Amino acid sequence: MKLIDLNRHGEIGANSMFVQIGSFNLLIDSGLNPKKLGYDALPDFEPIENIDLDLIVLTHCHLDHLGSMPIVTAQYPKTPVITTAPNVTLAPRMLRNSINVMKRQREEHGIAEYPLFLHRDVVQFSKQLTIQRFGRSEIYTKGSDQIEVILHPAGHVAGAAAVEFIYKHRRIVFSGDVLFDAQRTLPTAQLPSGPLDTLILETTRGAKGREPGKTRASEVDQLIEQIAAILERGGSCLIPVFALGRMQELFKIIYEARNDGRLPKSPIHAAGLGMAVCEHFDKIRKQTNLIDFDIRMLEKMNVRSVDLNMRPGRDLPRKGIYLVSSGMMVEHTPSYKIAASLLPHSNNGLCFVGYCDPDTPGGQLLGSHDEETTFFFDALDYNAPVRASIDQFDLSGHADRGELLEYAEQTEARAIILTHGDQDARDWFQTQLRERLPNRKVIDPKPLLEYEV
Ligand SMILES: [Zn+2]
Ligand SMILES: [Zn+2]
Repeated sequence: MKLIDLNRHGEIGANSMFVQIGSFNLLIDSGLNPKKLGYDALPDFEPIENIDLDLIVLTHCHLDHLGSMPIVTAQYPKTPVITTAPNVTLAPRMLRNSINVMKRQREEHGIAEYPLFLHRDVVQFSKQLTIQRFGRSEIYTKGSDQIEVILHPAGHVAGAAAVEFIYKHRRIVFSGDVLFDAQRTLPTAQLPSGPLDTLILETTRGAKGREPGKTRASEVDQLIEQIAAILERGGSCLIPVFALGRMQELFKIIYEARNDGRLPKSPIHAAGLGMAVCEHFDKIRKQTNLIDFDIRMLEKMNVRSVDLNMRPGRDLPRKGIYLVSSGMMVEHTPSYKIAASLLPHSNNGLCFVGYCDPDTPGGQLLGSHDEETTFFFDALDYNAPVRASIDQFDLSGHADRGELLEYAEQTEARAIILTHGDQDARDWFQTQLRERLPNRKVIDPKPLLEYEV
């Protein structure tokens, strides 16, 4: 098997992996790097320029896996894009939103190449989407050669799949992004058990283990207690969330806590793409039963849309819980604007519920607020005194590193390839795997280099 990681800057970036198994040319995911702008945010497709792709697989609809798919399908209009039913519903919506964001960035940053694709490219991409059910095997043939494809539930987010290829009795598995914990909206991952030939493993959380005694359930409890405390002291609570998955998960957590009497019935304000995703989740529940999210819950909680006409520094005109994207408080997003109104007032509180990249405003605020008493909102040209409480809860959508290591061991894979992680995260896995499984091949592929596995 030959493998090239097309994610040009390494780390998490623009995920896309090319593999050649027998005579089959396969592409797994094609994302956009959320930290880069313009062409630099794309995978580098140069190594596969003269190659005909036989199959494309989309593991899930986060943009770091999906964001450049329409560029690939414009190039390969006959190649099927294999994915799960929820992704067929979610992907076009996420891509359309991405076009709108790129159009806005074109104005703001003067990036001439934006948008990188058009609505008609999304239409073309959608035509190529081919639904495959979890656990069902499909066989693809090319001349006398054949390959079997199976998708497995990966937890993480609605529709997320791990991909298994079986070629001449060799099993090759791409984990995709994985969560072994059950979520309120989604059951646990069920990755294939061994023996495998090759495992391509995500390493997102490799740099840091979970603190002892902390579980997902205990973190959810702590979050609810903190929201209750903020509301009780007459403040508003901002929870920055990803539009896809995390927002719906938080709606359910809040809904259940209100019904249990652990949270007061205060107003909930939400906005943006996440609300559209809620409607899609409801549709997916009705069609597939693969997720547990009933949109009537939002009506019962009387969720209101956020009025974003607020002035930095002046407290939010309406009290309550603000559940808005982006999860890392990226500039120009609702969570960024709301934080600029919320932070200067001591009865308010900010609750992060996932990882924040240190280069994003969310990450900078988390990194600095112990020492500094102000935070500069660059895009608003506003220096905010930090008086609100700031807390972080570990409701990550990714498996703990110990769990992934255990899984890798169980599979007895002959070769393990590391992906989807910062360098320190990959290094941890490499060291651990070499120590525990000395006879296995462990590869941390350099971008754009070809590896024979
Ligand atoms: Zn993801
Ligand atoms: Zn990802």
